[in-house]
Amino acid sequence: MSASDIPALAEAVIAGDRRALARAITLVESGRADHRAEAEVLLDAAGKPGRQALRIGLSGTPGVGKSTFIEAFGLMLTGQGLRVAVLAVDPSSARSGGSILGDKTRMERLSRDPGAYIRPSPSRTELGGVARRTREAVALCEAAGFDVVLIETVGVGQSETLVAGMADLFVLLIAPGGGDELQGVKRGIMEMADLILVNKADGDLQPAATRTCADYTGALRLLRRRPQDPDGFPKAMMVSSVSGDGLEAAWREMQALAAWRRAEGHWQARRIEQAQTWFAEEVRHGLMARLMDDPALSAARAALSEAVAKGQIAPSRAAADLLRKLTLGKG
Ligand code: GDP
Repeated sequence: MSASDIPALAEAVIAGDRRALARAITLVESGRADHRAEAEVLLDAAGKPGRQALRIGLSGTPGVGKSTFIEAFGLMLTGQGLRVAVLAVDPSSARSGGSILGDKTRMERLSRDPGAYIRPSPSRTELGGVARRTREAVALCEAAGFDVVLIETVGVGQSETLVAGMADLFVLLIAPGGGDELQGVKRGIMEMADLILVNKADGDLQPAATRTCADYTGALRLLRRRPQDPDGFPKAMMVSSVSGDGLEAAWREMQALAAWRRAEGHWQARRIEQAQTWFAEEVRHGLMARLMDDPALSAARAALSEAVAKGQIAPSRAAADLLRKLTLGKG
């Protein structure tokens, strides 16, 4: 793609052209330096109309029912005339190059729905890189006029923090358990959740789901009240992604929470904070890239790192020396 095509691509994205959106996301996912420069122009142009979707982060361990939930929930939303985009942050693809969230056929009906757009997780890159690209894909989906952007991740490691950091609401999907399942969910993840959905509340699993929901309701009450929450939040609810029970109620809760945060200014404050964090991370990333890409700086970094390893220089002093070279080199 030539650089002169970028404004046209941005316009096509804004006009809601899905093929343009897919091309735009492919462009921001590319690791090539010339593509990166184009991606920056594209993101800037696409963001101009200032469209905002409801960004919902969704996490849960494998098997909890994320794809089943997203399919049912997504179809419910498109049934209401809403346009839904689904993106994934897949930490496994960062490690192995293979993706457990990347398979489109997991949500077959939703992927065929003209009101929905599903984008598999980018692979072969480190988690930080995945986060960066997902953030940009979210921005492009918003520019394309989607009403809801679902950002899915598997409940391991830092990926929840990353997803919560680019979402307006964070939803944790839980499976009914035998009673000691609270230990399995780290406190930090509970603290990030706005809504805990106990999935599979149907058939034989109904009684266990009821118990699990009560356990989480109790646990959430013990958490410190956050200023960005109205009364009753965060809350636990039961859903069945198979029967569809509870999905409408869950959507009502998400909308109520989003409306309250908008009215109180928390929504806007969170968006501003996220934009500033994004900016800071880009700066950090750019500085690191410069250190790595410039041969002289890269050699200096290797030498200083060696000196740190041998105990010849304190890490802080070595870092300061290197940063001084960065300023002198390229100011
Ligand atoms: P993921 O790994 O989190 O994406 O989980 P999947 O959506 O692939 O679901 C894992 C298994 O749980 C599948 O066999 C689903 O059919 C089943 N499942 C998902 N949601 C429900 C539900 O609401 N009720 C029941 N009974 N089973 C469910």
